[in-house]
Parts: sequence; structure tokens; C-alpha cells
Amino acid sequence: MSTVIETKITCPNCGNIEQVEMPDYVCIRIYKCPSCEKVFHPKEGDCCVFCSYAEDDCPSKQVGEDSDNQLKI
Ligand SMILES: [Zn+2]
Repeated sequence: MSTVIETKITCPNCGNIEQVEMPDYVCIRIYKCPSCEKVFHPKEGDCCVFCSYAEDDCPSKQVGEDSDNQLKI
């Protein structure tokens, strides 16, 4: 099952806001602004550009706060 969540991402360079779809299991690490065509990467500590620049955290973060990358026994 895959869900797509829409959010708005704001370009930190020119302030352009774009409605984008977030795939639920892929971290998007590169975002190209359609307005100024500048390419962005996530801020340090963020897993993807949505966490850095969008209104919402990415779906993988929303699913569970304790589902970080560490395996828990
Ligand atoms: Zn821009």
C-alpha cells in the first residue's frame, strides 16, 4: 500500500511555494525550484528536503516517531 501526501514546499532562495507530492517510502534529497531553478539539499540533520523546506515532515517521519534508522530488538 502506498500513499501520497501532498504538501507545500517553499524555496529558501526565492520564496516560491510549490505544491508537491511526497512518496511515502522515498526520501527526496534533491529539490529543484521550478521558479529560480536552484537545486537544494536537506539541511543538516534532516532526512529529506520536505523536512527542511516543506510545511510537513516527510511521511516516513510522520509514520512513527520511534521508527528511526536503528534496529530495536
Ligand atoms: Zn526558488
